[in-house]
Amino acid sequence: MNARVLVLGGTTESSALVRILATQWPSLAVTLSFAGRTSTRAQAPAPVRVGGFGGAEGLRRYLLGEAIVAVVDATHPFAARMPFNVEAACTAVGVPRLRLVRPPWRLQPQDRWLEVADMAAAAETVSRNGVTRVLLTIGRQEVAAFSRCPAAAFVVRSIDPPDLGGFVGADPAVVLARGPFSLADELDLLRSQQIDLVVSKNAGGEATRAKIDACRVLGLPVVMVARPAGPASTTVETANEAVRWLVRALGKTEG
Ligand code: NAP
Repeated sequence: MNARVLVLGGTTESSALVRILATQWPSLAVTLSFAGRTSTRAQAPAPVRVGGFGGAEGLRRYLLGEAIVAVVDATHPFAARMPFNVEAACTAVGVPRLRLVRPPWRLQPQDRWLEVADMAAAAETVSRNGVTRVLLTIGRQEVAAFSRCPAAAFVVRSIDPPDLGGFVGADPAVVLARGPFSLADELDLLRSQQIDLVVSKNAGGEATRAKIDACRVLGLPVVMVARPAGPASTTVETANEAVRWLVRALGKTEG
């Protein structure tokens, strides 16, 4: 039977890994797993499953039931729970695991970052800064954290409509868009919406980096939310490094 590998996805890196494996290692049986948060997704060159496993225990049962021999956790750097579930489930069944996560953005000269630990601290920072129009580029799920920032008006950019449950006060303006975004796109958005501060997760990567570059160009502050802590793990930053890890972990001998 072909070796079966589970890739936990939802990122550019997970898609890249699955594409590389499909061409370089076609005998590997790869399943790509999505949480199902977005309404549309690109075609993948591998079987896809969608939806949670039911916590670490559900994932443990899945690994056993599907005879998975290695797991690559390529979930987003801000996926707070899945890395812990992967650690627990893989440890329980003795399956090797790898975290594939892109490096964070690094502060550049001229950047005006206000670095904070989490979304609650980001909201406090917005409240303290006396800004008037704030662009939230934090995804759709945590917008309500900003509902108690009375002085500011918000523009939310997200792929799918934001979850405004619990948002008190005037609804934010919404811009629905999926990256990648160019510097010209981002300068245009910031200027046309008269934004004076941007809130961003330190997601890293190229697809959404232009907003950080645009803020540097315009001299705008960025409230930069740090990544959540994950479990100790063997970690790589690129899909190619993940392929090399799989080669070693599975002792690849054939193409
Ligand atoms: P999370 O807190 O780590 O996950 C919450 C729950 O969603 C998990 O416990 C699991 O449910 C399920 N889940 C997460 N990733 C999954 C996957 N790849 N396949 C199947 N189930 C998955 O993550 P999150 O922040 O909610 O993010 C959910 C997904 O969106 C992730 O796949 C992530 O890569 C992607 N994403 C997240 C962000 C972000 O900013 N958080 C941004 C872009 C993309 P069970 O416990 O039931 O298994």
